[in-house]
Amino acid sequence: MKREDVIRAGTYPMFIDGREVPSLSGKTFPSIDPSTGQRLASVYEADAEDVNLAVAAAQRAFEGIWRTTTPRERSQKLMKFAQLVASHVDRLSWIECYDAGKPITASRAWLAGAPGTLEYYAGCLLGLAGETLNVSDKTLMDFTLREPLGVCGLIVPWNFPLSIALLKMAPALAAGNCVVVKPSEITPLSTSELGALVAEAGFPPGVINIVHGPGSTVGAALVRHPRVAKISFTGGSDTGKRIFRESADTVKRLTLELGGKSASLVFADADIDKAVDVAYTDIVRNSGQVCGACTRVLLEESIADQFTEALERRLSAVKLGMPEDPATEMGPLVSATQAAKVRSYLEIGQQEGARLGTYIQLSDRSELRSDAFLAPMLFHDAVSTMRVAREEIFGPVLTVMRFRDEADAVSMANDSPYGLAACAFTRDASRAMRLVKALSAGTVCINTGARSAVDAPFGGFRESGVGKERGKEALLDDTQIKNVRFAL
Ligand code: NDP
Repeated sequence: MKREDVIRAGTYPMFIDGREVPSLSGKTFPSIDPSTGQRLASVYEADAEDVNLAVAAAQRAFEGIWRTTTPRERSQKLMKFAQLVASHVDRLSWIECYDAGKPITASRAWLAGAPGTLEYYAGCLLGLAGETLNVSDKTLMDFTLREPLGVCGLIVPWNFPLSIALLKMAPALAAGNCVVVKPSEITPLSTSELGALVAEAGFPPGVINIVHGPGSTVGAALVRHPRVAKISFTGGSDTGKRIFRESADTVKRLTLELGGKSASLVFADADIDKAVDVAYTDIVRNSGQVCGACTRVLLEESIADQFTEALERRLSAVKLGMPEDPATEMGPLVSATQAAKVRSYLEIGQQEGARLGTYIQLSDRSELRSDAFLAPMLFHDAVSTMRVAREEIFGPVLTVMRFRDEADAVSMANDSPYGLAACAFTRDASRAMRLVKALSAGTVCINTGARSAVDAPFGGFRESGVGKERGKEALLDDTQIKNVRFAL
């Protein structure tokens, strides 16, 4: 589809109290197509007053209706919402193709899973329950209730805009909370389209609200708001730490899904082709802008050359192109700013002594005019102290290191402030089980890439975050437990 067929000509609205609305100030901001560097659309920009209106609408809906709906009613609404999202997946995929620079074939594949997120929690919520406790007091009946928290502020990043918005919305709504969603100002368009679907699905006004604008103002207003009971945030560690500090004043519940520098350990007895394929996918998929990507590849010395030669061969043939071309594997990064940040590691890595592998020059590709395009970078001969081995770069950059033995590999993998995911490739089942126990990360994958699914918990150790997204854990994290002591 062409841009003009999927992008609205008018200004993109917010969605507050069941209606698409402009901002109170009338202020707008542009959303940029990263593949051209041109303005794609205008979006209404909220300020603290708009956030107040959205939170007040959510609070009214929570107190007035949503918290007392039956599980079946909430489940039915989520299922209806899932059907509506499913019927718009193609259009939404094209919107993200232009607004986030996602290759259309990949964009379609990712968003095809979005309705499943709503369906999973529509089912999961039916099993939500407290428990009866066998307390040591014969005069009491003691039990727990799982209750919703109230208004949840959902702060969404730009790498998977709609998928992550729905991943946060579905468990929060399923648990009986009302939500205010803030998409990234870099990629606001697909989430903005949800307003109309929310209304059509029949959610009562105020249950779901969407506000647009910069994190530093709109996001911060949500974090500071005394009527917001929980913040669920996905994004960079620095912003996550700031949210942690700023939400302390109102003692908010937090789910923080932050950065990663995950390691993939490849042993000499592994299926090397498979491990190469996973490394290739991690660098190319969404231009490497994936928190769980294994951006450190640790290779056993005896197979290191074989592995890197195979990976270099694959990378030199990557189909880098305009996102609307169905053959494109890798499009631009989300913005020229993000690409400039990632590009700076070309110099940082080489100055530190890492060796840059084959690097495709894009200057000959006249169709890739925008500064947001960047070729994959592979750094060889790195060591754990280098910035390219420690920092989350969030782009198409892999850092390769070599290890002597299992103990060496584990110690290198765990030597990171992050602990989001880890992968290991080996045919030795005993070693695989030892690694499952030894690797310090929220997700450990054996002989497969670090991927996530809606029905299994995902969330990091250490500076990679707090709490879990996905799985029944996300639903539980969106509730609070009330203990009831009932005198007999
Ligand atoms: P941020 O972490 O700053 O942005 C993520 C979300 O938080 C966006 O909606 C943003 O809004 C919002 N936000 C920003 N500042 C605040 C604040 N003070 N209070 C509340 N919300 C806020 O990501 P950046 O775009 O700055 O990217 C920086 C780095 O973060 C990347 O290079 C990458 O390393 C990492 N990152 C990690 C992601 C992950 O999935 N773990 C996803 C995205 C980035 P807005 O964008 O509108 O300003």
